[in-house]
Amino acid sequence: MSRKIKFSSDEERTEHEKIYAKEYYQKHKDKITTNLYELKHCNCCNKEIMKYKFKRHERSNKHKENEQKLIVSFD
Ligand SMILES: [Zn+2]
Repeated sequence: MSRKIKFSSDEERTEHEKIYAKEYYQKHKDKITTNLYELKHCNCCNKEIMKYKFKRHERSNKHKENEQKLIVSFD
């Protein structure tokens, strides 16, 4: 994607770059946000957890319990 745009002034170019950067950020941000709502499978609990909750889930007692069971069963 190398579309060249002619700018009549540096100010116009700066303005365009600002808008472009903002749009890019918005797209990127949306992507991150949607990724966070994707489900991640927890092998220990055999359960689907939302990505943004996963870190917290890993620290939960329920998860630790299941993790322990899993370690024991593999022993
Ligand atoms: Zn878990």
